[in-house]
Amino acid sequence: MLKLTFLGTSAGVPTKQRNVTALAVECLNPYSSGANQQHNKKSRPWVLIDCGEGTQQQLLHTKLSLHQLQAICITHVHGDHCYGLPGLLASAAMSGRTAALTIIAPKAIATLLEAITLTTELYLPFTINFMAIEDILSEPNDEHKGKVTVNKVTINLDHQHQLVIDIYPLSHRVTSYGFGITQTISRRTLNTDKLIAAGIPASVLWGRLQQGEDIVTDDGRKLYAEDYVDNDVQSTRVVVAGDNDTPECLSAAVVDADLLVHEATYTHEVLNKIQAKNPDFDPMHSSAQLVGRFAEQLGVKNLILTHFSARYQSFDNPDSSTPNMAHIRIDAQSTYQDNLWLAADFDQYMVNGAADLADEEEGSRVQYLGSARGC
Ligand SMILES: [Zn+2]
Ligand SMILES: [Zn+2]
Repeated sequence: MLKLTFLGTSAGVPTKQRNVTALAVECLNPYSSGANQQHNKKSRPWVLIDCGEGTQQQLLHTKLSLHQLQAICITHVHGDHCYGLPGLLASAAMSGRTAALTIIAPKAIATLLEAITLTTELYLPFTINFMAIEDILSEPNDEHKGKVTVNKVTINLDHQHQLVIDIYPLSHRVTSYGFGITQTISRRTLNTDKLIAAGIPASVLWGRLQQGEDIVTDDGRKLYAEDYVDNDVQSTRVVVAGDNDTPECLSAAVVDADLLVHEATYTHEVLNKIQAKNPDFDPMHSSAQLVGRFAEQLGVKNLILTHFSARYQSFDNPDSSTPNMAHIRIDAQSTYQDNLWLAADFDQYMVNGAADLADEEEGSRVQYLGSARGC
């Protein structure tokens, strides 16, 4: 289960209602319960996608802790996606973080951080494990080369809980990327019916079998764990795009994705007007209609749009002449018929992989939870 908290949903500049781009993705393990409940409450690892200016102030309104932050992924070098990074790192240092932090970003972000560290005498008491996307994408196709393979980075959260981040080049004024975030939780369940049928009553042996140990019963029978333990793997996948004027760049990424989060900076009409007004400068963003058409054609069942131009007010009124969310929504719905949400700051969503569903209803894979603000 992945829990999304939108920390910024505005394009380019912040507005009174919307900060610039940032999205928190928390990795929840519903099976860490019972004895581990207390541990589970404290352990809520999360990943930050983009870090626009002011992201750390936005975090103050949520329960997210910089101590639990596992990795920061930056889609591209435009300021509305990365100017918050130095401040957030400095605050993590001041709050006593010592654990290493992974940053997955274009190479230029390393240069930015080096310059700021040097010029502002910033000391970080934790290691930054910087992974340049250019290097990740040029890695040879060798599954056995450390943790990096082809276009993927693997983050092991615990022995049964893993996050794989894969990376897709997009089309924008500067090099921009989309991230596929796949959470897998493997769970070993004991086939108790089979044990009872074999005449092996509940005892400590059951626990040892579940841990994967082969055992010998009191009456001398050897039991192999693999015969009595089922290994279920639940996986949840979310694709988060950076700025991008060609959603088709994500065709491979969205196969089997439970959710796509994509920018929709304006309506298609406004996009056309902007392009016609200044043919020499294309901001290279998507309209809601373009993203909707792509998602419809690729069979994406759940779509969240974000990164709205500051010209759009946050209210929803199709009849108003003031640009507002209704205009974006209608533009997307002109090409897309499935589950659609327009993100607002602090909106939270729960995403459940297919294996976790009681029914096979696609719509229930993504649930709007309300606002994180003030919780
Ligand atoms: Zn942007
Ligand atoms: Zn941009």
